Amino acid sequence: MEFSGFKYIVVGAGFWGLTLAERLATIRKEKVLILEAKNHPGGNCYSYLDRETNIEVHQYGSHIFHTNNDRVWNYINQFSGFNNYRHKVLTKYKNEVYSMPINLMTINQFYKKNLTPAEAKWLLQTEGSAAQIKVVQSFEDVIVSQIGYPLYEAFIKGYTVKQWDQDPKNLPAYIIKRLPVRYDYNLNYFDDRYQGIPGLGYGEIFNQMLKRPGIEIRYNVDYFDIRDQLPREAIIFYSGPIDKYFDYCYGELSWRSLTFKEETVPLNDFQGTSVMNFADMENPYTRCHEFRHYHPEIDFSNLTKTIIFYEKSKETKKGEVPYYPIGMKKDKEIYEKYKAKAQTLKNVYLGGRLGEYAYMDMHQVILKALDLFAQI
Ligand SMILES: Cc1cc2nc3c(=O)[nH]c(=O)nc-3n(C[C@H](O)[C@H](O)[C@H](O)COP(=O)(O)OP(=O)(O)OC[C@H]3O[C@@H](n4cnc5c(N)ncnc54)[C@H](O)[C@@H]3O)c2cc1C
Repeated sequence: MEFSGFKYIVVGAGFWGLTLAERLATIRKEKVLILEAKNHPGGNCYSYLDRETNIEVHQYGSHIFHTNNDRVWNYINQFSGFNNYRHKVLTKYKNEVYSMPINLMTINQFYKKNLTPAEAKWLLQTEGSAAQIKVVQSFEDVIVSQIGYPLYEAFIKGYTVKQWDQDPKNLPAYIIKRLPVRYDYNLNYFDDRYQGIPGLGYGEIFNQMLKRPGIEIRYNVDYFDIRDQLPREAIIFYSGPIDKYFDYCYGELSWRSLTFKEETVPLNDFQGTSVMNFADMENPYTRCHEFRHYHPEIDFSNLTKTIIFYEKSKETKKGEVPYYPIGMKKDKEIYEKYKAKAQTLKNVYLGGRLGEYAYMDMHQVILKALDLFAQI
């Protein structure tokens, strides 16, 4: 494989790498080579259009774009318009459906009451005090002292055990400051000014970004297989895992992964909403995604099949896609060592969610890439 003639090499075609490549090509008129280990662009945000149903499927789980940042919103709108989708999350607990995150609707339904915001706040404070948590040491303590045992046992405990494979009693308190609770009937999941799903899907955004003259992308190429062949003077933007970049010299960072069970169901509408969480421990899945609901602007009334993904959380094994950084104290200490080492590198920039070992939403990753571009 030939790599000469490229001053800039971007490792990973997720939003971080694509934003940098696009800016370098468009603003600086540079030639940029993107190396991507997968066979498609977009990293975890990739989606494709199912030809038979015309449903946009988010291959790595639901992705909803939301931001308050004008710069990010103006930037992303160059590549696609967005629909007016507003995300709402529901959760099933003991065969009843509630609204998430916990809000006045959830509280009133759960306690079978008709409380005002002030009364609901008082009730949860009373429940929190009744729990008598003297010293807040664990994840469970943080939440129980805030909302009490009944809501915690119903909506938080089972979901957390399934998501992290840990009893919340054993998770340290520092991983959560406060649980977001709303004392009104605002059922929207995000509050951001700008929200939506790209009209033609995320896949189309990535195609548009890659169309900029000067960008070449090569799929199914792992940077570590060819790094010795790259021009020595090339400037590298790397968005793979930071511990792998340094050959795990300070140890491995821990992650959680997800698996999806995909089904095409012979129904027009399976669950009536895009995401249904499962709070009960007995159900091994954490949630179910139904993708047709992300495009309310499309008339799906004649649809005879719908596509759903059941999601389950699992330990990340070597070679699997990492999804969520676990971020225990030990991980933080290891990451700080890698970060310090990365800062000594010349002509190499590490970033994105894997390069920074951080959970970041799409708008945050794009903003980081725009800032880095401005800096260099
Ligand atoms: C389940 C889930 C749901 C989410 N939902 C939302 C949401 O609703 N809204 C939102 O804003 N954000 C959401 N996010 C976050 C979003 O996925 C991230 O912000 C985004 O993917 C980060 O982009 P990135 O470029 O940093 O990383 P990635 O998308 O992971 O891209 C990194 C790329 O680098 C490639 N790569 C890695 N190593 C190598 C190598 N050695 N050689 C070549 N290529 C390599 C990978 O294959 C990958 O394509 C969600 C995340 C998860 C896990």
